[in-house]
Amino acid sequence: MHRRNSSTASSVCPRFLCCPILLLLLLFAESAHAQSCGAHGIAVQVLGSGGPELQDKRASSSYLIWQDGRARVLVDAGGGSALRFGESGAQMSQLDVILFSHFHVDHSGDFSALIKSSWFEDRKRPLPIYGPSGNDFMPSTTEFVSDFFGDQHGAYRYLSELLTPNEEGSYKLQPHNVVAGSTPVEVFRSDDLVASAVHVIHGAVPALAWRIELAGKVVVFSGDTNGDDPGLPRLAHNAVPEGAQGLERRLHMPPSVIGQIAADAHVKMLVLSHRMLRTLGQEDQTLFQIKKRYSGPVVFANDLDCFPVK
Ligand SMILES: [Zn+2]
Repeated sequence: MHRRNSSTASSVCPRFLCCPILLLLLLFAESAHAQSCGAHGIAVQVLGSGGPELQDKRASSSYLIWQDGRARVLVDAGGGSALRFGESGAQMSQLDVILFSHFHVDHSGDFSALIKSSWFEDRKRPLPIYGPSGNDFMPSTTEFVSDFFGDQHGAYRYLSELLTPNEEGSYKLQPHNVVAGSTPVEVFRSDDLVASAVHVIHGAVPALAWRIELAGKVVVFSGDTNGDDPGLPRLAHNAVPEGAQGLERRLHMPPSVIGQIAADAHVKMLVLSHRMLRTLGQEDQTLFQIKKRYSGPVVFANDLDCFPVK
């Protein structure tokens, strides 16, 4: 098992302000066998490709970033994704960080199941968790975690050793609230891994888009958004040279907007997830709209699909 010290930073990365290079990236589309995803190099694995509806027969939103056989980043943890996590062969003890786009159930419903499973693993180092700050409508990330594992009022306070500083236990969860605007902010850094966020518009729900840079590759997750915000294109535009960036987005962002953002950001491959009943079966029309603006490859994701990032 790898053990690395995590470090955090909340300042704006100067690179975002001066890097003139577009990034485009690339998720190459050969889908690898689920159990071997990320065995060599960097890969993105879709744990959940569906929306909130169980009848789509897909796990809800969740994604893993692999590096050389180790699951390093988990983005969102919607319902059903804990099972997919196990099926992927990943272990919670491998993760450097968990990132949340927002706290709708279909992006966070299996969080507690993943944490409970981790209790049986040999993890000693803290597990940082980053997500949006709250408002009157939604909890902040620290509130969300505390609502489960807080020793006073947590629903699962029998596991409060994972959160309460003075309780003895295996390891500690370290939740953080991310305050982000439309300019990307570096939020987390650990060795060759950097996670940055921008605010995106998702109705009244505080929501983030994430960019993960790992070993020179870049992957962008749009999260849920209507696409009206300026931050997402900036997040996609500003990246390290020779990186790769994939763009994951929600289908209720109109395909025309998806295509425009993908084109503006020069993404090498667009992976469409969060597939809901109202869009399943509409792939041809969706593709037609996207292709009017974006000429690169477009893939409709399924659970456990694996996309090597080259
Ligand atoms: Zn949502």
